[in-house]
Amino acid sequence: HLIELRGKKNLTLSGKSIEIYANIKDSSDVSSAIYNDAGGIGLFRTEFLFLGKDRFPGEEEQFNAYKEAAENMHTKIVVIRTLDIGADKTEKYFHSVKEENPALGIRGIRMSFKYPEIFNTQLRALLRASYFGNIAILFPMISSISEISRAKKMIRNAANELIEENFPFRIPEIGVMIETPAAALISDAIAQEVDFLSIGTNDLIQYTLAADRQNEEMMPYLNAHSPAILKLIKMTIDNGHLNGCRVGICGEMAADSSLTQTFMEMGVDELSVEPYKILKLREQIRNMP
Ligand code: PEP
Ligand code: MG
Repeated sequence: HLIELRGKKNLTLSGKSIEIYANIKDSSDVSSAIYNDAGGIGLFRTEFLFLGKDRFPGEEEQFNAYKEAAENMHTKIVVIRTLDIGADKTEKYFHSVKEENPALGIRGIRMSFKYPEIFNTQLRALLRASYFGNIAILFPMISSISEISRAKKMIRNAANELIEENFPFRIPEIGVMIETPAAALISDAIAQEVDFLSIGTNDLIQYTLAADRQNEEMMPYLNAHSPAILKLIKMTIDNGHLNGCRVGICGEMAADSSLTQTFMEMGVDELSVEPYKILKLREQIRNMP
């Protein structure tokens, strides 16, 4: 019966609406996002293009993957997150140093700053692919404003190169993952720098509650319903809205049906979930007061 909800709106009985987007790991997942009637792609985790290989994916390979995803989604938004890997998920070709605490080490945007050529290649591919669809760029593991300025400078640099080389391109919307407590606490200032915020609850929980998300024994401590987590989410949504940003949630929590009502009341604009969870969430929202 869920299939009958395709083409229907995500509207509560009293008429409140919310977007439901899909989290995907590569361009082949786009078909399941479309099948499940996703309003857009809320999180394209690009690390899968980089893992399981013996070399970095080049600009053309990335450009084609991003362009394909954007074209298949037509005018719908495709939020593409720049590389988010760290010492716990690398390949040999990276020859990165071993770290004592990879979750607190070189990962996400920090990796991109450490390897500016790899970052530049990805940004060039993203800017070029944006010409063909509604792409937005999302930066992971941000914890300060200066990182955003630095990333934006890298975008301008990539754009200047493309102008010189006569490539068609477009500067996409820019968003930041709110997945460190620091980012949530300065989300008002971050929101002034970008177009949208996306709350990454998987890491936000890990870093706020100081519990390793990969350690089985930490499961009882990784409490998504902790008032500390809900407070940071609420703060981020309010700060985002007061400063002109859309705010979405893209961690696993976005699909937690026991929190959907709470998120709607907080006024979140978008929930991004695994494609197969979209219609179930839509059904729930349509039955809410
Ligand atoms: C998150 O941290 O909530 C998130 C969506 O990113 P990832 O799970 O890829 O770290
Ligand atoms: Mg994360």
